[in-house]
Amino acid sequence: MLSVIPNPPRIALPVAGSADLFPVRRVYCVGRNYAAHAREMGADPDREPPFFFMKPADALQSVGGEPAPHPYPPRTENYHFEIEMVAALGKGGRDIPVEAALDHVFGYAVGLDMTRRDLQDEAKRMARPWDLGKAADASGPIGPLHPVAAVGHPDRGAITLEVDGSLRQQGDLAEMIWSVAEQIAYLSAYFELAPGDLIFTGTPSGVGPVRRGERMTGAVAGLGQIVLDVV
Ligand code: MN
Repeated sequence: MLSVIPNPPRIALPVAGSADLFPVRRVYCVGRNYAAHAREMGADPDREPPFFFMKPADALQSVGGEPAPHPYPPRTENYHFEIEMVAALGKGGRDIPVEAALDHVFGYAVGLDMTRRDLQDEAKRMARPWDLGKAADASGPIGPLHPVAAVGHPDRGAITLEVDGSLRQQGDLAEMIWSVAEQIAYLSAYFELAPGDLIFTGTPSGVGPVRRGERMTGAVAGLGQIVLDVV
């Protein structure tokens, strides 16, 4: 049988240190997973269970070792960076226990959960979905995947974002409220997870706007950095 339209391309992320690719299925993102960021968003980090939203997989922007142009999206005056570590699942399942959860991770990458904050704020005010704020085209820049076999399971170390060389976000993976294992276990109670799923694991405090002409450099200790020139 023929497809009646061209097959949509499926995004696949390069695996660092090899010529292999990691095809992406779904992209889950956790909200307010660092206490200081939860407070800057006006929430109480001690009382809220984790919550998740999704980005379309085709909103990812695969970024290599060179600075990449990043398109400023339409319909926003307040486009924010959120530096995040991304976990990539190599195995799926339902009701995965916390103790077994990390066995499902293939690797980790540096990512940005770019956000039209003005539209997200409006959605919050009006009790509407976040998609217009969170799912802009190219709103998920992500670097190469580093396999667990090479980097283990990073649970401490610096996570930073600079704009034009000035430090804007600085946190430590150890400050996550919900660990990667807990996020996988929690999600797997709501969805059947599958190989190819990504989880953006939350951002430290210091989120803020970026403008055309500025350069963002996002880094996670042990996972390298991505550099984006906003155009
Ligand atoms: Mn985020």
